[in-house]
Amino acid sequence: MIRMTKKVFSDLAIWMMGFGMLVGIIFPFFMLVLGIPSSIALSWWFFLVCMIAGLCVGAVNIQLAKRIVGSRIKDLSNHMMEIEGHLKDLAGKNDAFDCTPMKCHIPVDSEDALGDSSRSFNSLVDTLAKSLQTEVNIRTYTQMLSSHLETDELSRAALVSLMEMVKAPAGAILVEEDGEMQVRCSIGLTKADSLGENILVLDTLRTLKRSLIDIPKDIMLDGVLASFHPQQIIVEPVLYKQVGLGVIVLASPVPFEKEMYENLDLFGRSLALAMHNAMAHDQVQKLAAVDPLTGVYNRRFGMSRLHEEFVRSVKQGGALGLMMIDIDNFKQINDAYGHSIGDRVLRSIAMTARGQLREGDIIVRLGGDEFMLVLLGASRSDAQDVGENIRRMIEEKRVSYGEQSIHVTVSIGGASFPELDAEYEKEMIEAADRALYIVKNSGRNRVSM
Ligand code: GH3
Ligand code: MG
Repeated sequence: MIRMTKKVFSDLAIWMMGFGMLVGIIFPFFMLVLGIPSSIALSWWFFLVCMIAGLCVGAVNIQLAKRIVGSRIKDLSNHMMEIEGHLKDLAGKNDAFDCTPMKCHIPVDSEDALGDSSRSFNSLVDTLAKSLQTEVNIRTYTQMLSSHLETDELSRAALVSLMEMVKAPAGAILVEEDGEMQVRCSIGLTKADSLGENILVLDTLRTLKRSLIDIPKDIMLDGVLASFHPQQIIVEPVLYKQVGLGVIVLASPVPFEKEMYENLDLFGRSLALAMHNAMAHDQVQKLAAVDPLTGVYNRRFGMSRLHEEFVRSVKQGGALGLMMIDIDNFKQINDAYGHSIGDRVLRSIAMTARGQLREGDIIVRLGGDEFMLVLLGASRSDAQDVGENIRRMIEEKRVSYGEQSIHVTVSIGGASFPELDAEYEKEMIEAADRALYIVKNSGRNRVSM
């Protein structure tokens, strides 16, 4: 229809009034056909009355259209403006677009173009709410990923976010380390430890493809046992430059939503990047703290740990044992069997000593053939017992060299706090060194405190 003004209802008014006048002009001729005398039907006053009547009908029509259609259109536009304002407020913020059907939907009560427009608007708002929610999730998730540098912390935080986003009540993150799958964290699973050997997990890492498993009601899956019966399980590979770093396992008592797969793909990729950085960071930390030959702490890191533990013991009034271990006549072993056998002896002694420690105790290679043990909560006699056990085990153990076996002994000197009234950890080191010196000068292969 031809547009005459910039307003739909003004155009409609002009058309209706014009049509009313036209009807007014034509109507008298109808009257003639119906047998009304021409003196009446074609009189100027009859024309006038008909035209006025036509104009009145046009005016009433336009009012009705404004009331019935105009109010609906007004509702629609008010709603749209409200949502627009809401979106403007949200721009750049991390708030979700809180849009329930009650809040954002236009009631659909007609099966016509207006009803269709309302329906389209409602579904547009739903899609928008979902995509804004995803955007907020991604933003919070990537912020979370970039704020964690340790693999364990990162895995836990990522798993919590992932489970929340895909609405999975249970899950785990596994990372491949030295050819084995290690469970870095798990939530809601009862036998997560066995996941490392789970065939689905291993398959996902081998094929680098997502596995989606529907589980019949009467079947239980080892490793993904949870307090609920999972109906669907996803095993998503964590890929960095096409190399599988690990997998994400998510279990749900109901099938996952379709959009979740796309999101998971995206979240998996961001996690891979963060995980790669965290693993590199762990590696650097490890290199900075560990003696490469024996795998125990190096001197620099060991000394700082000793300082921390000594300060803690002084503050909390706890006991602390310190033992110095030195291999007896190690030079002769090197000379007789060569340096690489000497290295094997060093590794074997570190392993034996480590095996005798309790959780939290520290073993340090101070350099050469000297090791230091920091025994948390150990009294003088506890420390002496640990030292004696280690000494005896090393004496009894043999390092094999071809047909022969090498006999090694160690001398151990120790000190314990608070029996030794030390103010600084240096005094403990000096006391243990003095004890070791005494052992070395009195025949070796002994423990002295
Ligand atoms: P003592 O009973 O008095 O301790 O005699 P010792 O021969 O063990 O003397 P000392 O502890 O001074 O000797 C340490 C030797 O350890 C000297 C060096 O050749 C050897 N050594 C130091 N670092 C390494 C290492 O990384 N590998 C090997 N194989 N030997 C090492
Ligand atoms: Mg020595």
